[in-house]
Amino acid sequence: MSYAAVNPYNGQKIRDFDNVTDQQLDIILDTAQDFYKQSQRQAVEERTDFLYKLADEFEQNIEKYARVLSTNMGKLLTEARQEVKKTSSFARYYAENGVKFMQPKPYNDLPNGQAQVEFSGTGIVLAIEPWNFPYTQVMRVFAPNFILGNPIILKHASIVPEAALAFQEACDNVGLPSGAFTNIFADYDQINRIIEDPRVQGVALTGSENAGRRIAASAGENLTKSTMELGGTDVFVVLDDVDIADAAKDATKARLTNAGQVCTAAKRYIVSSSIYPEFLAALKEEFAKYKLGDPLDENTTLAPLSSKKAQQQLQTQVAKVIAGGAKVLYGNPTPISGDGAGFSPLILTGMDEKNPMFEEELFGPVAQIYQAQSDDEIIKIANNSRHGLGGAIYTKNIERGKKLASRIETGQVTINSILSSQAQVPFGGVKNSGYGRELSDWGIYEFANIKPVMY
Ligand code: NAP
Repeated sequence: MSYAAVNPYNGQKIRDFDNVTDQQLDIILDTAQDFYKQSQRQAVEERTDFLYKLADEFEQNIEKYARVLSTNMGKLLTEARQEVKKTSSFARYYAENGVKFMQPKPYNDLPNGQAQVEFSGTGIVLAIEPWNFPYTQVMRVFAPNFILGNPIILKHASIVPEAALAFQEACDNVGLPSGAFTNIFADYDQINRIIEDPRVQGVALTGSENAGRRIAASAGENLTKSTMELGGTDVFVVLDDVDIADAAKDATKARLTNAGQVCTAAKRYIVSSSIYPEFLAALKEEFAKYKLGDPLDENTTLAPLSSKKAQQQLQTQVAKVIAGGAKVLYGNPTPISGDGAGFSPLILTGMDEKNPMFEEELFGPVAQIYQAQSDDEIIKIANNSRHGLGGAIYTKNIERGKKLASRIETGQVTINSILSSQAQVPFGGVKNSGYGRELSDWGIYEFANIKPVMY
């Protein structure tokens, strides 16, 4: 596995990076373990201050941290700034709430005596992270584990090495204790070696189902706790009572933000049949407003994909979807040539179970649209998927929306807003979208020792 930063807008290589050596890895694991031992004797309060500083570091240097995202994985500068702000907000949330989450919890309804549940760290956590949100994904794992005193060793996606180093730099700039956070450029064999190390007590992966299967198997082999944040084929449901223009605007944003490379992006629109023609017309109008260009240009509204490889993979998938019987309702499926990784947005229809790509995640600006006659049909289409990550429902009737939300088999659903992670609420999936939760108080307990002391 080689780590290289290549600008996906023009294909120009920025820099190659050397992998960590096995000897360096030994020292990194020793240092991380030293931090763990030391942190378990410290009060939590001694760590929260570092998280406040880390939040400030990102907030006060938005431009610097944002540009790295644009050049490494093509994120629009405007979206990159938002990601840096969100990264800061995740650090601040755990700075503000960490002490509260770590308070022992009394359990007084025992038949004999009482119990007090204590929370503490368990050891080193290996975080394996994707390129699509290079800072927020890392902070989601780092901040709660830092509160626990669990050291993080980060293996970031090989296409965003400068973003990985920028996160390390932010940690170094605030004087984080040695071993608390260490980025490594490691190959897959080295990652397995880390998972086999008995000092490593957790593995947090965010990535594809394929990576999930391999990493979860490796963690399972070593009886190491893991969390899996994997892919999705989320629905965006549009009921017959909506303001069509507003819903079409959000539906488009929910699909085209980050060039469509969001785990919880709206990948399948399900629209009430009675408004389908009007909604589709409004949707096409909105899609047409997005213009592909240089992510560093403030006027660009559609980013390129993250790499040439991602572009080629999506082109192959779309060709298979169309060969399998789907129809193009909007856009030109002819691949864009040249050195950049641009991809023209598409709206497809006619997907059915006979299509070989029926349940596949299309990670880019490609939407599928379905019509439904009833709420039962909406649920049937929504749940006919091996994924279970998120979903959104648009309706003026909140009670009807809530009833539908309860029936959708995913880890989270929003009503009348685009699904996006927030520090205060748990985030994760069911079915093949993974297991475990990040963020909120739930996120801190994934790699905690939850220990009742009974007396
Ligand atoms: P990916 O190819 O699975 O890679 C994710 C990470 O796993 C990268 O760091 C990758 O390293 C590493 N990796 C992959 N196979 C590995 C192996 N056998 N051993 C060790 N490390 C391995 O996924 P991606 O293309 O970067 O990200 C897109 C996927 O992530 C989509 O499916 C998306 O839905 C999902 N995602 C889910 C969430 C969520 O919270 N549920 C959030 C964001 C993204 P290399 O780069 O070196 O291969």
